[in-house]
Amino acid sequence: MAKNTNDEQFKNVISHAKEYGFVFQSSEIYDGLSAVYDYGQLGAELKNNLKTYWWKAMVQLHENIVGIDSAIFMHPKVWKASGHVDGFNDPMIDNKDSKKRYRADQLLEDKIARYEKDGKTDKAAKLQAEMDDALKAEDLQQLKTLIEQHEIACPVSGTKNWTEVRQFNLMFSTQFGAMAEGSEEVYLRPETAQGIFVNFLNVQKSGRMKIPFGIAQIGKAFRNEVIARQFIMRMREFEQMEMQFFVRPGEDKKWFAYWKEARLKWHLALGTPAEKYRYHDHVKLAHYANAATDIEFEFPFGFKEVEGIHSRTDFDLSQHQEYSGKKMQYFDNDLDETGKPYGNYVPYVIETSIGLDRMFLLTLINAFEEQDLSEGDKQDSRTLLRLHPCLAPYKVAIFPLTKKDGLPEKARAIMDNLKLDFNCIYEEKDAIGKRYRRQDAIGTPFCVTVDHQTLEDDTVTIRHRDTMEQQRIEIKHLDELIASKTSWKTLFCKD
Ligand code: ATP
Repeated sequence: MAKNTNDEQFKNVISHAKEYGFVFQSSEIYDGLSAVYDYGQLGAELKNNLKTYWWKAMVQLHENIVGIDSAIFMHPKVWKASGHVDGFNDPMIDNKDSKKRYRADQLLEDKIARYEKDGKTDKAAKLQAEMDDALKAEDLQQLKTLIEQHEIACPVSGTKNWTEVRQFNLMFSTQFGAMAEGSEEVYLRPETAQGIFVNFLNVQKSGRMKIPFGIAQIGKAFRNEVIARQFIMRMREFEQMEMQFFVRPGEDKKWFAYWKEARLKWHLALGTPAEKYRYHDHVKLAHYANAATDIEFEFPFGFKEVEGIHSRTDFDLSQHQEYSGKKMQYFDNDLDETGKPYGNYVPYVIETSIGLDRMFLLTLINAFEEQDLSEGDKQDSRTLLRLHPCLAPYKVAIFPLTKKDGLPEKARAIMDNLKLDFNCIYEEKDAIGKRYRRQDAIGTPFCVTVDHQTLEDDTVTIRHRDTMEQQRIEIKHLDELIASKTSWKTLFCKD
């Protein structure tokens, strides 16, 4: 698809998200707060459904994975131990004319993408390799040299008048205690993972967990991103769904491969075309990792990371052992090949970490479709959110054909029954056609219309969102039909 079409499609998704109550800018009446967003009435439903899908797939379907909910505030030493105080930096560069700040690696990434678009693949590959080397060596001077060599200009001022590249820490800090003076500096967690690591022994002992086992968590994380762009793609306050899987040392490679595959399967079960996804193996590994892969999705602005699978070795637990002075070991009484118990060790960890907001954005983009329904001279169109029925904010909309003759009462009675199992919406305003269009635009898979025949024989029409087909069925079969498409089983019983 041409770039303009992609840009336009992305803009349409953003305005659709606002118009129908999925996502609003934070503090909009005060002109917003940069890179902070609020989820509206439908956004909250979709987000909850994504969380449920993840939680069920990870916790409910794995006997050896349990979920926790740890606090956002943690002891400041946690972030010393994890390496975030000293190492959670991005290389930044400022343009002296526009005074705008950029991530040096992202300026280079954008250039690489432009070379690729222009068919200069050799140039793109060379720059990619040089940038990866510079990042790996943390050679800030070399990053600056590459920006100069490739004549990268500031998108705002258009000049190449750059400062040196500097490191910038991404953690937000605040004061603990009533008074700023004498109080302790604490951080808003930049990842949820550390809440899992510090609770590793609590969970293992209280849950009598045996290695290999996992601890999952969904929660907010905060990063002072310098460049916040692309709507909810890069936010300063966002949500992560993370799982740390504790394994025997030496078995980390095997489990890394397992989770890499399992997590992509989770994405594909939603019906997304496989070519929209790819793996991106890391060259520059984070300070804690011995292998890392991103699961990337093709957004309208290119392939970008949605989820990371990281083999974190025993780094985090060992660090906490050292900084806290408490043992972070597991006693493994299974026997090794020589017949002796494996004994005490600090487990290795495979992490799966997905950004809920990025998953939300991906889901909206994937589902959004503007359909031309014109026939002959008759112009017609509809905007459709082709959400997987399990994710749809409402599963069913109930419409009385008219506001009289007892139809609303009958419709309400049907809804009162269905709402015990499904999130329902009742609408009696406007013509039926218009009501269908509104439900299409928010992704409701079923619309049920109550008409005069309903009063006689207890049948209704049920209309299917994607095909627009209508069928007449008995009220008593509604439950079963809706459940057959919206049950989580439809996602989990796929291969
Ligand atoms: P990026 O390179 O895009 O900054 P990252 O490699 O720093 O991401 P991780 O630390 O691996 O990201 O975090 C795991 C997941 O959390 C990412 O895959 C992404 O989906 C999500 N995430 C990270 N930062 C943000 C953010 N600022 N806004 C929204 N989601 C984020």
